[in-house]
Amino acid sequence: MTEADRYHNSLWDHSATPKIETLALQGDLDVDVLIIGGGFTGLSTALHLAEAGVNCAVLEGREVGHGGSGRNAGLVNPGVWLLPNEVEQELGKKDGGRLNMALSSSPDLVFSVIEEYQIACEAKRQGMLQAAHARSKVGWVKDRCQQMKALGLPVELVTGSDLQAMTGSQIYRHAAVFDPRAGTIQPMSYARGLARAALSQGARIFQNTPVQGLTANGNRWVAQTAQGKVSADQVIVATNAYTDRFLPDIAKATIPVFMFQAATGPLPDEIANGISPKRNGLFDTRKTMFSSRIDDAGRYIVCSAGRMTGGAWSLRTNWATRVRDRLFPQLRGQEWQFWWSGQMGFTDNHLPRVFQPALGLTVPIGYNGRGIGPGTVIGKACAELVQGGSITDFPLPLQQVRAESWRNVRAAYYELGTRLYNIADSRV
Ligand SMILES: Cc1cc2nc3c(=O)[nH]c(=O)nc-3n(C[C@H](O)[C@H](O)[C@H](O)COP(=O)(O)OP(=O)(O)OC[C@H]3O[C@@H](n4cnc5c(N)ncnc54)[C@H](O)[C@@H]3O)c2cc1C
Repeated sequence: MTEADRYHNSLWDHSATPKIETLALQGDLDVDVLIIGGGFTGLSTALHLAEAGVNCAVLEGREVGHGGSGRNAGLVNPGVWLLPNEVEQELGKKDGGRLNMALSSSPDLVFSVIEEYQIACEAKRQGMLQAAHARSKVGWVKDRCQQMKALGLPVELVTGSDLQAMTGSQIYRHAAVFDPRAGTIQPMSYARGLARAALSQGARIFQNTPVQGLTANGNRWVAQTAQGKVSADQVIVATNAYTDRFLPDIAKATIPVFMFQAATGPLPDEIANGISPKRNGLFDTRKTMFSSRIDDAGRYIVCSAGRMTGGAWSLRTNWATRVRDRLFPQLRGQEWQFWWSGQMGFTDNHLPRVFQPALGLTVPIGYNGRGIGPGTVIGKACAELVQGGSITDFPLPLQQVRAESWRNVRAAYYELGTRLYNIADSRV
């Protein structure tokens, strides 16, 4: 195992459908719309543009799914982390209402694209549980469920033996909110499937083609790459938390927050079915985000906050083992066979943003760890916008670029908090 593999040994790379075979850009290209970044946002934009017959191309610096899209937990949730009323408080009734409307049904779009293009990505729409991880959190979960119901969301409170049957855990037996709109996917396969769908509709995708510079040229844009350039009327910058130095102002517009994951090998059916008979995803009420699920091969997967590199690797895997064994004693002794991490883009109000710093340049960013549905929906909305769609139909108000204040300090503080939490929680 190489040093790099030690910290990045992703299950999603291992179990995904084959890679997309496309070349790097060589020479010059002229398109109507250029998309920079081959994750859910960029690929959904490309797919919906290509479906409408628009001449478009994607430039991806590494491979499709290299960013958050190929690394995430695969939990397809509706909405954002905030409740719909909190979104309206933050953005105002009109703009908040539009965002709620667009994202409350985001899993519908994800699962309908999967269905339409027959994307093989372990897609399951079995709902999601948000479970109290301790008695002290039961009241919070019940309140949350009540608030969601009062807002008209189709959720249910699950308790007692019903909940235990859904989770197989003594610890999760108290209370959970069940949201039937949600589901799970194999995220790398979804990213590759979106890319294949976009290619089938006539979009062009160039991988291993990092954009090194983006400049205005009259009322057009020119993106410079190592061996060529692309001229376009419109550019969608869909590099999100993976924005590198080519657009430093955009990179500063989110706070980099890391998440790690670990997965066991395939479990015997009776154990896997005991933990999650319906294979729904689950996240709980811990201080740092904690989710778990089982994939198609029966592997148990956990996801939580923090980097996995350097000295943190053993801290994270030891903590994950302790939490897992407390939740599911039947998993004791199972080795972690995969572990990996990825970067998310946070914003101060926990809501995504779409910047339009200049005419013809649109930058969706900052999904705060909930980007499968939002990336697919906002990508489609970007495709409609650049075809002349009205900004009043767009899910978010278009803004000027805004840097997150104290970005590096906040990122370091958050990372330190996750380490202290793992240390403290391991001693209990
Ligand atoms: C560990 C983890 C767990 C998560 N879990 C969930 C979850 O369960 N559910 C959920 O909904 N969301 C989850 N998220 C969030 C979700 O994955 C992201 O919000 C989403 O993938 C963002 O998609 P995107 O297309 O906007 O950006 P990305 O997928 O990050 O794509 C950006 C792309 O831009 C490329 N790029 C960067 N610079 C350049 C350049 N100069 N030229 C060309 N290309 C460039 C990168 O290589 C990258 O492929 C998670 C994220 C992480 C990291």
